[in-house]
Amino acid sequence: MCESYYTKLEKEFPDVAKRYKQKLDIINGVDPFCLSDEMFSYNVKNFPKVTNMDIIAYLVLSKSYYTKQQMKAYKSLEAYKYFEAGFVSKCRCCKVGDYFVSAADVKHSQRMSEASLKLWIIINEDGSIECAHCTCIADAGEVCSHVGAVLFALEYIHREQETKSCTDVEATWNVPTVSKVNYERIRAINFGGIFLGSNISEIPPISQDQLSELLNKIVKGGSSSVITRVLEPWASEISQTPNVRTVANPFSNLYNEELEMLDLAELIAIGDALNVQISEEACLQIEANTKDQSSSVEWFQQRKGRITASNFKSACRTNAAKPSLPLIKNICYPPTI
Ligand SMILES: [Zn+2]
Repeated sequence: MCESYYTKLEKEFPDVAKRYKQKLDIINGVDPFCLSDEMFSYNVKNFPKVTNMDIIAYLVLSKSYYTKQQMKAYKSLEAYKYFEAGFVSKCRCCKVGDYFVSAADVKHSQRMSEASLKLWIIINEDGSIECAHCTCIADAGEVCSHVGAVLFALEYIHREQETKSCTDVEATWNVPTVSKVNYERIRAINFGGIFLGSNISEIPPISQDQLSELLNKIVKGGSSSVITRVLEPWASEISQTPNVRTVANPFSNLYNEELEMLDLAELIAIGDALNVQISEEACLQIEANTKDQSSSVEWFQQRKGRITASNFKSACRTNAAKPSLPLIKNICYPPTI
């Protein structure tokens, strides 16, 4: 037994001390106030299953040790308010013999700045409450609003656990029943569930003629297949298909995140220092590739960053010192139509 608390109790309230000792006898004289924090669990899975009926049975229907009358805890509503207001903290539980011992701190109902009250509750395995003790003076009446508040907290925790959906809890994996698994080659492992049919004994390898026929069908159907790019004669046929040579747009890779913080004058200086040159051959290639305008993919690529015929007039009319933002956006990110 935790001597200091008990000694103090014996000195100040001998009746309460006597009853305190009796209550501890239920759990072999273990004083919950003397148990270290490590002895308790804060995991709600280890908490007792206290229900509303258990609370009513204890607060209202059980008989007081002192008065031998029904402890009509008329103030139970107050207890619920304490719980609702978050007065209960450090709610923890441990098992002592066949009983749960729940301990908690509860803020003082009258003087919020004072140290929290400490209490413990002995609870049967079925969730019914055996007895409780609180360090508030009102404990002389066996039950107080602080004990009631902790009981409501325990009931809430239990209810929450019961109504949790599968997504509220950690994923679990069914523990396999096989205790030892031997190493095997994959081909020797039976994964089960693969039905091959009774009359499929062996799939014959494909002949060269059959393969040619199959690939010809694929090519004629207009589909592209990796195997036709590596097997002759299809590979040579594909490589001889005229391929349009595209020209990279030198304006599409000017963006540099590091330059974002620079002011306009600095950016203009960097722009002036840029030396973009396009060879005559590349110009002719671009011209050839973009003749079809919007029908050509490259036409969209090459418009980025360029002043084209459609925005040339706007570019000439805008204030060079403060150019129109929509125009700039139109040039840098031309609409894809
Ligand atoms: Zn109390």
